[in-house]
Amino acid sequence: MIEEQTKNTSENGVYSHLMIHYGELSLKCGNRKWFEEKLIKGLRASLRGYNIASVEKLQGRVDVTLVGLYDMEALKYKVSRVFGVAAYAVAVCAGVSLESIEKTVLAGLAGRQIDTYAVRARRVDKKLPYSSFDANIAIGAAIAKKFPGAKVNLDDPQTTVHIDILKDRSYTYIDKFVGAGGLPTGTAGRVACMISGGIDSPVAAWRMMRRGCVVDFIHFHSAPFTDAASIEKVEEIVEKLNEWQCGAGKIVKVPLGNIQRKIVTATHEKYRVILYRRFMMRLAERIAEGLHAEALVTGEALGQVASQTLSNMNTVASAIKMAPLRPLVGMDKQEIVDLAIKIGTYDVSIIPHQDCCQFLEPRHPVTHTTIEELMKVEESLNIEELVKEGLTQIERNDIEVSS
Ligand code: ATP
Ligand code: MG
Repeated sequence: MIEEQTKNTSENGVYSHLMIHYGELSLKCGNRKWFEEKLIKGLRASLRGYNIASVEKLQGRVDVTLVGLYDMEALKYKVSRVFGVAAYAVAVCAGVSLESIEKTVLAGLAGRQIDTYAVRARRVDKKLPYSSFDANIAIGAAIAKKFPGAKVNLDDPQTTVHIDILKDRSYTYIDKFVGAGGLPTGTAGRVACMISGGIDSPVAAWRMMRRGCVVDFIHFHSAPFTDAASIEKVEEIVEKLNEWQCGAGKIVKVPLGNIQRKIVTATHEKYRVILYRRFMMRLAERIAEGLHAEALVTGEALGQVASQTLSNMNTVASAIKMAPLRPLVGMDKQEIVDLAIKIGTYDVSIIPHQDCCQFLEPRHPVTHTTIEELMKVEESLNIEELVKEGLTQIERNDIEVSS
């Protein structure tokens, strides 16, 4: 006799089940348990404030049971920002007998207009006395009886009924949503992203988050030569990005104005942007170490502007030892813009701002440099002293930066 177990009501009211599927995780056999735990941690963090009754790992999926009924759009927004989730749905939990499943499916379809449909049952527990195919046929027949005008369409149905049948219970859901994908937050370590107020670097940060990194943010500004609105803009972008990692990323704001003034007085104007960047890198490397980050992320894309030629990217990165990561390097601008829109940073990024690199920007920046050439140019600057001084101006006291 199959044990019936329904978990949709309690003395507290109604339960909402979030059925979470994860894709890539299942490949990581050795570390699977650890990955699942990080995924669950991400889910719990994103659902903070909701009344969570339980979070259960169930044969390749996770059931998050919430007590009560919720605004589905708000709930979907939260879950859609959890990395590691391949797909998710709000499901109804029932027993495993076909009668019980049929009752649940028909109740779920009540009030819907159904033109074409498909039933996709997945019997995870092979000990049950019927196959996935049997379930598809039985439930499909029940739908046909209840909705006589509806037609089966397995290729492109208007309504898909999903039924995950486990050992002691089934989950039925009709609307299934594509999740954020990637790997759960915290499975790939910590990186620091150099973030400007532009379109690209927020997307670069997001792509690293999607691969499981926790991302901290380092922003350079030229206050008081540039206005405070630019800093507020970056803060707003970071807030949006932090939605994807449950607020885990710190922001470090660094004034660069003094160093820039020295560069302007001591060197040829054509090198300014490259020199600003080399100093940004040096400061960022030290700050990243203080944040326990293992790499520096930038939003550079090959050929986008004068400072992003191969030789200039090399010259800039050669100022530091830490690995520079450029997740956008091979992307077209339009692809980056599309992603910025999708992740929610675009609207803020396009607000006009004063970037610190525009500070006394030369009319003709060099597009080709060598490391030797820049080292020569930098002989007129006291690098260590400038870096040391720059580091004392960081507005945070919770990061230990060695000078
Ligand atoms: P973005 O859209 O991110 O500004 P971009 O294509 O405009 O990028 P640049 O302005 O040349 O390119 O900057 C290249 C990269 O250098 C940025 O993506 C970012 O990682 C870093 N960067 C530039 N300006 C700053 C800044 N003010 N603070 C921190 N990092 C910066
Ligand atoms: Mg920029």
